[in-house]
Amino acid sequence: MSYDDSNIFNKILSGDIPCDKIYEDDEILCFKDIKPIAKIHVLIIPKEKYISFNDFVSNASENTITSFFKKIQKIADKLNISKSGYRIISNHSLDANQEVPHFHIHLVGGENLGGIKGK
Ligand code: 5GP
Repeated sequence: MSYDDSNIFNKILSGDIPCDKIYEDDEILCFKDIKPIAKIHVLIIPKEKYISFNDFVSNASENTITSFFKKIQKIADKLNISKSGYRIISNHSLDANQEVPHFHIHLVGGENLGGIKGK
C-alpha cells in the first residue's frame, strides 16, 4: 500500500483545508479533532508522509520518531493536561478502523476518560 496524497490530513498540511491549529513546527502539526470525543481531543501528525503508526515506526529515522513522541508530551504540557492525565491512541489499519491514512496520534483528556473497553 502506498501513501495516498488525497487524504484529508495531507490537504490540511498543504493548506487546502483549514484546521484549528494548536502547535506547528518544521516537523509536526497539531490541531483539534473535528469530532472530539472528550473536552480536549487533538491530533498530532508528522509533516513527512507516513500511512500509519506501523509505517512511521518502520521507516522514519530514530531521531524523527523520538522527537515526535517527545513533542506529544510537550503539547500535553501546553494543553495543561499532564498533571490531570490523558490518553494517546493511534489506529493502525483495518481492525482499528483507521479513517485517515496519514499517521496520527490522538491526544485526549481534559476530563475523566473511563476505561478502555475495546469495542
Ligand atoms: P482515525 O480513525 O483515522 O484514527 O481518526 C481520524 C480522526 O480525524 C477522527 O477522529 C476524525 O474526527 C478526524 N477528522 C476527520 N476529518 C477531519 C478534518 O477534516 N479535520 C479535522 N480537524 N479532523 C478530522
